[in-house]
Amino acid sequence: MEIVAENLTFTYSPKTKGLSFRALNGVNLTVKSGEIFGIIGKTGSGKSTFVQHINGLIKVQKDSGALKVGEYDLTDKKCDYKSLRAKVGMMFQYPEHQLFAETVAEDVAFALKNFNKDLSAEELAGRVRQAVEIVGLDYNEIKDKSPFDLSGGQKRRVAIAGVIVAKPEILVLDEPAAGLDPKGKREFLELLLKLHKDFVKTIIIVSHDMNLVAEYCARAAVFAGGKIIATGTPKEIFSDGKVLAESGLDLPLTASLTEKLKSKGVDIDSDLTVKDFTEKLIYALKNGGRQDERRFFRQLFPRRLFRA
Ligand code: ADP
Ligand code: MG
Repeated sequence: MEIVAENLTFTYSPKTKGLSFRALNGVNLTVKSGEIFGIIGKTGSGKSTFVQHINGLIKVQKDSGALKVGEYDLTDKKCDYKSLRAKVGMMFQYPEHQLFAETVAEDVAFALKNFNKDLSAEELAGRVRQAVEIVGLDYNEIKDKSPFDLSGGQKRRVAIAGVIVAKPEILVLDEPAAGLDPKGKREFLELLLKLHKDFVKTIIIVSHDMNLVAEYCARAAVFAGGKIIATGTPKEIFSDGKVLAESGLDLPLTASLTEKLKSKGVDIDSDLTVKDFTEKLIYALKNGGRQDERRFFRQLFPRRLFRA
């Protein structure tokens, strides 16, 4: 399912003078099926407002542009939101705050039950078990526990199980790593990669963490003032001075290191993932074309790196 937004505009409290606020101001974006796509931009730039349109949580306002998600036309009054929501799963910031049922199994089953009233108890249990196992939890051990007795990382996994249990084609995550410690964050993002490989076609990640975006997103759109000011690979976005200035975004670590090295006359041309950056850096350390570059590196890094 492709997502196509054309000139999408949205105003909060449009009829209340003084309170009315235009959060989206002509958004144009196409997200192809199969991508891990980043939505980035400063707080207040319109990211959450935009992604909540994708599953119809926020309705497209009258005369406010066009939005299509696969075959669903979200400007159509007759749009079947229930069936759309089974195909577009959404996870909000701090999803663990939305856990509510008495047991993990009930919590995970909730949305699925809602979408498929005619599933038998057995089918339901089977689907729940599958979702719980996919997110890396032990079904038998956890199914009867209270969601409130789980660790932070486990809670987030249960929350995502409750979304993917409906087998959505598109998974939208608003600030998925917020509030997790570095280890929990890495584990959760590795889980997303696994889901993307085996289970969910398209993943859209809203984040203000540029390291996360550089590492995991193939492409991203930059929001500023309710508009998209750039779309591209992390490498394209983080090398565009104009976009960075206008959006006020930080650089991922790999990009700021690339910049610092460049100011010393050393060009590292990586895709900005840590793995690619490190490989290219080590290659440059060993085989750097110019003598002054190699000398510079030798000052920076331990000698043993050059012996191997
Ligand atoms: P982001 O997710 O990029 O931080 P949001 O989409 O949440 O941005 O918000 C965009 C703008 O809309 C912000 O200025 C925010 O204050 C405003 N806004 C968000 N929600 C509401 C609301 N319910 N009522 C009025 N204004 C809102
Ligand atoms: Mg937000």
